Amino acid sequence: INSKLPNIETSIFAKMSNMAAKHNALNLSQGFPNFPSDPALNALVNQAMSDGFNQYAPMPGDFGLRMEISKKIENLHNHIYNPETEITITAGATQAIFTIIAATINKGDEVIIFTPAYDCYAPTVKLFGGKIVSVQLKPPFYSPDWQEVADRISSKTKMIIINSPHNPTGMLFTEDDMLHLQDLAEKNNLLVLSDEVYEHIIFDGNSHQSASKFEALAQRSFITASFGKTFHNTGWKMGYCAAPEKLMREFQKVHQFVVFCVNHPVQKALATYLKDENHYLKLADFYQQKRDFFLHLIEGSNFKIIPTKGTYFQMLDFSDISNESDLVFTERLTKECKIATIPTSVFNKDLQDFKQIRVCFAKTDETLVEAAKILNELK
Ligand code: PMP
Ligand code: GLN
Repeated sequence: INSKLPNIETSIFAKMSNMAAKHNALNLSQGFPNFPSDPALNALVNQAMSDGFNQYAPMPGDFGLRMEISKKIENLHNHIYNPETEITITAGATQAIFTIIAATINKGDEVIIFTPAYDCYAPTVKLFGGKIVSVQLKPPFYSPDWQEVADRISSKTKMIIINSPHNPTGMLFTEDDMLHLQDLAEKNNLLVLSDEVYEHIIFDGNSHQSASKFEALAQRSFITASFGKTFHNTGWKMGYCAAPEKLMREFQKVHQFVVFCVNHPVQKALATYLKDENHYLKLADFYQQKRDFFLHLIEGSNFKIIPTKGTYFQMLDFSDISNESDLVFTERLTKECKIATIPTSVFNKDLQDFKQIRVCFAKTDETLVEAAKILNELK
């Protein structure tokens, strides 16, 4: 077969989680919590199944859930998405991202991404014949350089993909960043894909700058979010896409043939659970405590800590510990030290000598203590 993605390997998340299982290592690589999803939410799913919601959901998703999402966005960002026409429930953010790109990118279109970049953007763009134009987020703060973005825009640029809070660096786009983006997108008639899966995991009193908050930007943006991140159940693969009607119409043309609809009882349960805003508003404090607890535990280690302002990831610089590449270092850590992490060069093919690993701190305190013990011994 003539491969459509000849240079794409198995995702690093599958690779590292497999390696962790094989070598019986603590798994702080792939991003998922090792504590349970709320029993009250689980009970709502069981209830929905008992109530008979076991057949196809409506194609765009359960209407009650779409209404709750619309209310949530209006309360938080003061923008109204019509639940009838502007919201679709998806199988996680991954399916939303795939569908957005499939619905909009034609052969030869250029798509700007910021690197390091989450791993699914570039392959999906390539699958539809698009060309990736990357703009480097530079250490130590990983803030976007908008002049560089402006310089990279050409007559072929169709879309900019952003991700704030940012995986893997934990960087946040500021209000100023969003205004720059809005300005460039308007001047150059660009679409924006705003990956907001960590929207509720933001620290130190910072606030989430959703693309929906900026009116002109919202008019040309697809927003995606993930319930898996927010409600500690990544395995349920439940998320959504919100966009103005003219964009959502194109999204749904593809969505109906990618998956048609997604898990019905889970949607019913989420529609009820979302009514209590504490279920998502308490997440920032919860994860800030985890971050601070973990950072306190590894204070005496030889890793240099890159401040994380959001997400449940911490980047650690190991240049004082080893000269190995991050790929070799993380493999050795998994096999010999029994801790799996993510080599961040996989998000960043342009930087060869990137001595940073990503650690997921969405773990119980016991797991974090165990992990810190191992990390502190690396000299
Ligand atoms: N975007 C980013 C930045 C992510 O980190 C993830 C998953 N962790 C996703 C998208 C995909 O989310 P989901 O699991 O809901 O498909
Ligand atoms: N988004 C998760 C991470 O960054 C992984 C999701 C996946 O396994 N595809 O770790």
